[in-house]
Amino acid sequence: MKALEQRILKEGKCLPGGTLKVDSFINQQMDPMLMESIAEEFSHIFSDSGINKILTIESGGIAPAIMTGWKMKVPVVFAKKSLPSTMENILSTTIFSFTKNREYEVYVSRDYLHEGDRVLFIDDFLANANAAKGIIDLIHQAGAELTGMGFLIEKAFQHGRGPLEKAGIRVESLAVIESLDGCRIRFQNE
Ligand code: 5GP
Repeated sequence: MKALEQRILKEGKCLPGGTLKVDSFINQQMDPMLMESIAEEFSHIFSDSGINKILTIESGGIAPAIMTGWKMKVPVVFAKKSLPSTMENILSTTIFSFTKNREYEVYVSRDYLHEGDRVLFIDDFLANANAAKGIIDLIHQAGAELTGMGFLIEKAFQHGRGPLEKAGIRVESLAVIESLDGCRIRFQNE
């Protein structure tokens, strides 16, 4: 997606260890107009997948997920990183965080993710696919069906796509970064 790539080139900052900072338009300040274009793109890509629900993880995935849910007219559920005392029928899984370099639990209620659901997972980044694997586990526990995964930014040099595609999952990324070597952002299609 050209508009996203151009924005990454203009405002993205690379940090040591292969991390890309996009706080000015995705991860802290958010650009609703760009999010709308992203949602348009995802709703087009996944228009034939018959989903009835979008699942994401707080917090980076929430904005693109809710905009896509609005376009596709389906509810959006987010896995929470802390357990609210009010949550019932809890499903949980452990995920290794790339940015924080530690494990954390995520929680979702069976009330909002269950058998019969056809789920699209949306997240801001695909790196090593740890978050994606946690989501697959939650979807399995719920007895729901995963129809695909959409990422805003995939860092191809961290190879998260391989295991997901091997498991038969449809993976769609709007901007695919081939390398951040020398702090130069290089896209796959360059
Ligand atoms: P994975 O689980 O695929 O290794 O990493 C994906 C998760 O880690 C995403 O949910 C995202 O929040 C975070 N993440 C991974 N790489 C980056 C990055 O380069 N920049 C930012 N801001 N977050 C990242």
